[in-house]
Amino acid sequence: MTTFLPADSLWAATAPQPPKALPLEGAGTADIAIVGAGYTGLSAALHLAQQGVSVVVLEAMEIGHGGSGRNKGLVNAGMWVLPDDLPATLGAPHGERLLNLLADAPSLVYELVDRHGMNCEAVRKGTLHLAADATGLKQLQTRAAQWQARNAPVELLDAGETARLTGTGSYHGALLDRRAGTIQPLAYARELARAAIQAGATIHTQSPAVKVVRAGSDWCVETPKGHVTASRIIVATNAYTVNLWPQLRSELVFLPYFNFATEPLPASLGHTILPEGHGAWDTKKVLTSFRKDQTGRFIFGSVGMLEGMDARVHALWARRRMEKLFPQLKGIAFQKSWYGMIGMTDDHLPRFHKLDENIFGFSGYNGRGIAPGTVFGRVLADFATDRISAAGLPLPVTQPRPRKIRGIQEAGIRHGASALHLLRSFI
Ligand SMILES: Cc1cc2nc3c(=O)[nH]c(=O)nc-3n(C[C@H](O)[C@H](O)[C@H](O)COP(=O)(O)OP(=O)(O)OC[C@H]3O[C@@H](n4cnc5c(N)ncnc54)[C@H](O)[C@@H]3O)c2cc1C
Repeated sequence: MTTFLPADSLWAATAPQPPKALPLEGAGTADIAIVGAGYTGLSAALHLAQQGVSVVVLEAMEIGHGGSGRNKGLVNAGMWVLPDDLPATLGAPHGERLLNLLADAPSLVYELVDRHGMNCEAVRKGTLHLAADATGLKQLQTRAAQWQARNAPVELLDAGETARLTGTGSYHGALLDRRAGTIQPLAYARELARAAIQAGATIHTQSPAVKVVRAGSDWCVETPKGHVTASRIIVATNAYTVNLWPQLRSELVFLPYFNFATEPLPASLGHTILPEGHGAWDTKKVLTSFRKDQTGRFIFGSVGMLEGMDARVHALWARRRMEKLFPQLKGIAFQKSWYGMIGMTDDHLPRFHKLDENIFGFSGYNGRGIAPGTVFGRVLADFATDRISAAGLPLPVTQPRPRKIRGIQEAGIRHGASALHLLRSFI
């Protein structure tokens, strides 16, 4: 099978086969055309098909080609932004609505997994946000207090309990979030696609939308070998947008993030690290994250691009840092590595854009897209079928706003992460 996912990705090696999907050829019609087969587009397709709406998904490459097939698999609740800051930034109706939607978003992921019998290593044992230092601990105390005031099942752990749950004594404490969990991200995307097809959706891979033109009161989405006419278009291309809507790309600063995965650890070693199966990441700006997969591989990642010299620097850092945190892993080889691009907005909040009459979509998940993409897909389905109005959306309706110094910011992130990892490899 042709795949355009990174050849060395652990997820590509262990996900179930994708459902059969062929390129679009000739003319097609649908009530709704969706562009992009990541979590957002696939969840929208599933929920629309379940409502009996005819829906066609056009994917430029393969199912889960974008962030959905490359991420860490931490199914988080909420955003990076502190809970109380959401209403403060977005205003009360949108802020509260977004907060409530995202606080409960992991539930939708795990419900879909159960309902459709998805084979995607779904584990809901919570996540650990680790305090890297005293400042990080203060940030987590604030976050914990704000979530607890909203009755969220989060708990601040002391350094001793954090050491027990991670297997390393390097952290000052942790925020345990019991709403969250882990998943095999590409498997989840492929299984969402399978569920959407079973519900009646059509998915065409290798079918990039290259042009969108008016067809009376409808829209016609053109691909290299065909076209689909639909009354509404959902744009779910996010940070992997190609060909169309360059304005979506231009409002995002790309943050590259890599992961390395070891061979499956022997049980005697595996039990010494994350013994209760949590996913974890720390409070540093250039953060480190780690988790295990179903076979007990240890997956270790941070900010950076695995290209050229950067790849060597990050590999060296990852080995040294992993062995410093977990000396018992000395000599355990990395067998897989991959990276992807996270689309960051200036305020770290996602966007709901109306790109033209009846053309709309969410984007800009800032590295929090598994649960948000899934719930936003359902919101898009409800919006497209007029079950919710613009006034009822969790975000205001906006136009993309290009970032002027995006190139400089992206270069700063890429080279800054490399410089930091090079330095840290030797001190
Ligand atoms: C390395 C990494 C780690 C991450 N870790 C986490 C994590 O642990 N937890 C978490 O919640 N989130 C994480 N994220 C973020 C999360 O993966 C994304 O937010 C999420 O996958 C976005 O889903 P999406 O459906 O909106 O977009 P995508 O999954 O990016 O899908 C967009 C799709 O649109 C297609 N496309 C683009 N242009 C066209 C076109 N013209 N025609 C047809 N198709 C087109 C692309 O090929 C792609 O398949 C991470 C992201 C990365 C990259």
